[in-house]
Amino acid sequence: MRLKNKKAIVTGGAGGIGRATSLALAAEGAAVAVVDLNAEAAEAVAEEIRSAGGTAVAIAADVSSEADIERVVATAQAEFGGVDVVFNNAGIIRRTTAVETTVEEWDRVFGVNVRAIFLMCKHVVPIMEAAGGGSIINTGSGWGLKGGGQAISYCASKGAVVNMTRALAIDHGPAGIRVNSVNPGDVNTGMLSDEARQLGQDQASFLAEAADRPLRRMGQPGEVAQAVVWLASDDSSYVTGAALVVDGGGIA
Ligand code: NAD
Repeated sequence: MRLKNKKAIVTGGAGGIGRATSLALAAEGAAVAVVDLNAEAAEAVAEEIRSAGGTAVAIAADVSSEADIERVVATAQAEFGGVDVVFNNAGIIRRTTAVETTVEEWDRVFGVNVRAIFLMCKHVVPIMEAAGGGSIINTGSGWGLKGGGQAISYCASKGAVVNMTRALAIDHGPAGIRVNSVNPGDVNTGMLSDEARQLGQDQASFLAEAADRPLRRMGQPGEVAQAVVWLASDDSSYVTGAALVVDGGGIA
């Protein structure tokens, strides 16, 4: 119970990595606000936590909207009486080059992957400051560190997440707030299926390619979740501004 009495917000909490992390944070004792565009799926995750004896609330929201983020933070405050941990994890990908990407698609990817993190920090940092600290974990990507093909807006957005995380760590470290990014490689979630669909590729061969790692398999959502639990907990008390890579060795 490393997170006993902690209150957490998880965005994209209904998706592969978000659901696994919501469950893992709850298993360590945290109360979890499961935030997602998909209201029904978010409620199902919250119900899964409650039926295991945990505390959870589902909040339907578009994280790229400031009004929605303000409502998420206010709801978590009202339900739990504070916010100690935020996992900024909601994300989308467009598998297109610069030539193929429309301005609207570029803005949408940045709205969800980057602006949402700025907005969440804008509204949650004052609460953490008043409480004497907190831990914020942002989902970057291996492609935010090394780049990748046919995903220009995604790679640019995830690079922004990694460096924004360092800047946030510098600004808010003196208030006791730690900010780190977790950077997955290929993890078996709906996002990979979506990528195969966008590229018009056979899903089975796309997933097989994703397993071409030193560890010879793709990652499972729970393996990213455990890295987030560590960053959320006091076990990582001297770690801030870090870009933790969880990718089966794909970057080596
Ligand atoms: P996923 O598609 O299973 O989950 C993403 C979740 O985010 C979904 O539940 C979706 O409804 C939600 N979401 C999307 N837009 C939203 C919005 N505007 N507001 C609120 N919620 C929204 O994918 P995942 O793999 O679990 O992705 C989680 C994070 O991990 C993303 O940031 C992604 O970029 C990152 N990531 C994933 C992989 C991978 O291989 N799966 C690799 C590197 C990074």
